[in-house]
Parts: sequence; structure tokens; C-alpha cells
Amino acid sequence: MFSIEQFIAQLPKAELHLHLEGCIAPDTLWKLAERHRTPLFQQGRGAADQLYQYADFSGFLQAFKTICQHLQTPDDYELVTQETLRQLAQQNVRYAEIIVSAGVMLWKGENVRHNFEGILSGYARARQETGIRVQWIFDAARQFGPEAAWTVAREAVALKEKGVVAFGIGGDERQLAASSFREVFDDARNNGLRLTAHAGETAGPESIWDALHEFHAERIGHGLTAIQDTSLVNHLAKEQIPLEVCLSSNLRTGVLADLSSHPLRRFLDKKLIISLNTDDPALFGTDLNREYLLAHQNFGLNSEELRNLAKASFQAAFLPSAEKSAYLASF
Ligand SMILES: [Zn+2]
Repeated sequence: MFSIEQFIAQLPKAELHLHLEGCIAPDTLWKLAERHRTPLFQQGRGAADQLYQYADFSGFLQAFKTICQHLQTPDDYELVTQETLRQLAQQNVRYAEIIVSAGVMLWKGENVRHNFEGILSGYARARQETGIRVQWIFDAARQFGPEAAWTVAREAVALKEKGVVAFGIGGDERQLAASSFREVFDDARNNGLRLTAHAGETAGPESIWDALHEFHAERIGHGLTAIQDTSLVNHLAKEQIPLEVCLSSNLRTGVLADLSSHPLRRFLDKKLIISLNTDDPALFGTDLNREYLLAHQNFGLNSEELRNLAKASFQAAFLPSAEKSAYLASF
């Protein structure tokens, strides 16, 4: 007889909302600190661990920023990509769409294409070892404005043939009107990229409507506050627009006081397409198997429902339908 943990571990899974920078564990951060002799290195190994023990949202942002500052060369990106993909493969994640903060690379004055070469060589090694398949999402940050988002979208289009499948946006939802990014999303779509957006995480349902109307987003990152608007929930169900749910993330960033207030069960009752994801697993002290376990423990999802979530993670992927079918056939 399988335990629920064993059941979850053997499920084939896809990760669709995962930031590369948020996958970097303290040990790896320390390797980078040693490599570049950063201020963190001067503070000693304990400081790397401490960074992950933040108490509030600003502490989380500080940790994310410090991690990003330690990624300085294509070799750094190669290292973190290879390590991330090994961890995913250990959880039987067969396929992932990984968000790369291209907007942050540009803000740091780095060459996105050079860094992406590093990412691709880390991927090539991990794919050979584990068979994991990955496509990439280039993410702009709202607070950097539309000009910076244009540059991210152009880089994404230029690297489409190398596996960049989508353009997305993250950052502070409450800054700048969504309409200021409409043309960037139009252009990305016209150039064959798929579209996703963080929305309804820290702002209300109107932010999700904006992502649908202004960006034509095909998936919504988080989408928590959709539950406040019945017509929006009905629309998401009718149009089969998936939500990328990240339980631990919502708890650790403080947008939810406790997991029981997460609308996961209500979304499923309304027949929404839901994928479970980790967002920034190293920073939130989680992994994908644990997120499935949380869904079981907090919302009473049984093994059949967990299996359906795993299937939905492939259904919601930006993959050609033949490939989706192949993954679904493995259930
Ligand atoms: Zn995210």
C-alpha cells in the first residue's frame, strides 16, 4: 500500500510557475559568493542561511535581490540551471516552464543572450542526465516600465528558436496601468510567443481582468483574488484559462494569513483548470511534492484529485498538443 507521499512522488508532474532565481538554495548561493568574493562572502557562510530566514515581504524581496546579484556570468546561470533541473527531476517533474527574470538581467546591465547560453548548457547537461524537458518564459517587471518590457519581449522573440516559449510580467501589480504594457504583449503574441502574467496576487480581481483584456494572457500566475468576483470565476472556467496556484508562496509572502483561506477547493469546485507550483521553492522552503501534500492536508484532496491536478499541469502547459498527449498517456 502506497502512502500519500509515495503516491505524490510517483506522479508525473509539470512545473509551470517557477522562477530560476528562486530555486537557488543557500549552498549554491554560497558557491556563487565564494566564486565572486561578494559582500555576503565576507559575512561568512551563516549569512547565506540567514538570508532565507526572512520574516516579512520586504525580507523576501531583499533575499531575492541578493540572490540575483550573485548571478553575474553565463557560468553562474549554467550552475544554477543544472542544479535546479536535477532537483526537479528528483520529484518526477518531467516538464517545466521556467521563468527567467530577463528584466532583472537588463537592469543589472548584463547581456541576456550570453546568460541564456549558460542556461542552455546547464539544461543540456541536466536533460542528458535526467530526460527532463524545459521551455523558458522571459519575464518583465512592471515597476521597470514599458520600455524595459519591450526589450525583454524582443530578447524573448530573438531566442524563440532556442526554447523561449512565452513572455510574462511580474513585479508590483499596483504600479502602472496594465494598458501601458498592452502593445508589448500584442507584439510578443504576433511574434508567436505565448503569454502569461502574474495577476491577482497582491491586487484585486480587476488586475486579473486587466491581464485578460489588456495582455490577452493565456494563463494567470496566482489569480488568488479571482474568488472575489463570481463573473470572473465563471469566465475563467468557461474560457478554460488556467491559474498557476502557488500555496506556500502565498503564505510566505504574507498575501494569505493561513492556508485554509486559499480558494483552491472553491476553484476546483467551479471547474477551473489549476496547476500547482512552487514559485520560489528555495526561498519558500518547499518543493513540488510538498505542494501536492499541502493540497491533500489542507483541502482534503484525495489521490484521484491529486492525479487530476498533475494531469492539469500538462494540460495547461505551452506545449504542442501531440506532446501534451504523450505526457498525459503516461498516467
Ligand atoms: Zn512568481
